[in-house]
Amino acid sequence: MAKIKCVGLLTSGGDAPGMNAAVRAVTRAAIYNSLEVKGIYRGYRGLITGEILPFKTNNVSNIVQQGGTILKTARCLEFHEPEGRKTAYKTLQKEGIDALVVIGGDGSLSGARIFAQEYNIPIVGVPGTIDNDLNGTDTTIGYDTALNTIMQAVDKIRDTASSHERLFFIEVMGRDAGFLALNGAIASGAEAAIIPEIWTEVDQLEELIKTGFRKSKNSSIVLVAESEITGGAMGMAERVKKEYPQYDVRVTILGHIQRGGSPTASDRILASRMGAAAIDALMEDQRNVMIGIQDDEIVYVPFSKAIKKEKTINRDLLNTLRILSI
Ligand code: ADP
Repeated sequence: MAKIKCVGLLTSGGDAPGMNAAVRAVTRAAIYNSLEVKGIYRGYRGLITGEILPFKTNNVSNIVQQGGTILKTARCLEFHEPEGRKTAYKTLQKEGIDALVVIGGDGSLSGARIFAQEYNIPIVGVPGTIDNDLNGTDTTIGYDTALNTIMQAVDKIRDTASSHERLFFIEVMGRDAGFLALNGAIASGAEAAIIPEIWTEVDQLEELIKTGFRKSKNSSIVLVAESEITGGAMGMAERVKKEYPQYDVRVTILGHIQRGGSPTASDRILASRMGAAAIDALMEDQRNVMIGIQDDEIVYVPFSKAIKKEKTINRDLLNTLRILSI
């Protein structure tokens, strides 16, 4: 295999705190290994429009602590089409980029997988998403920061919930995955989490009302994972108004505050390790793998496995939440 000389780097999809730390790590590890690095702006869109700049070590100075991504990110519809990907490949050739590092979530890695199947270019993915919904890695970049943001927000809402004796449904992100809702609920001492993973197994609202709510408390906080399956916090509140009108219900949707802010130490360290590992992987002739972390060890996860929607929640956590909310 021809030796890699120049690595292209992009961030794509939803931004996540820690993406910048990963950009810094990929850039510096590449330069350390005598590779050229080019920053591709606005995700796959930059590959199509040719918005690309050579990166030196100082392009990534002073960003380890910043949320968002200095490379910007975008959702690019053209990349879903073969024509768009053809243009992207031509850009890579023109720029002399012979390997790609893609930092993003499940959609971005799905795009990377298709691109790598069509064109002969080694691609390594780095899981950057607050949702923690990529398979084959214990955690993803941004998840810990988002969890901390949720915890702090819920702490504040609890003051109102308990002063007014209300039932609060707080909707958190997660894109059909309940990791943020479940762990956010445990961290903030919430009474329950309503998550899509067990939707068909139990009526979580009924269980909450019957077993827990207001037995010994004057307020309740329930974290609801955003999802078409659960109907989100609004869906829950509507149901309570109809079925249990005796409760004073309120809804808070945390929204984009969950994606912002300075990354936690855990996310910075994870992003730094994963970014450096992406370059190691390319130097070892790996291709079409996502960098994962399992039991604190870096692993390579084939794209096909990483994007399979089968990451399971830890059911012991559900039980712990139930026990602690009596
Ligand atoms: P995330 O990476 O956060 O899951 P998206 O799902 O929006 O975010 O995906 C980001 C981008 O990745 C899309 O805008 C598109 O350019 C590309 N992408 C996603 N899925 C595919 C796909 N199946 N084929 C080609 N490109 C895709």
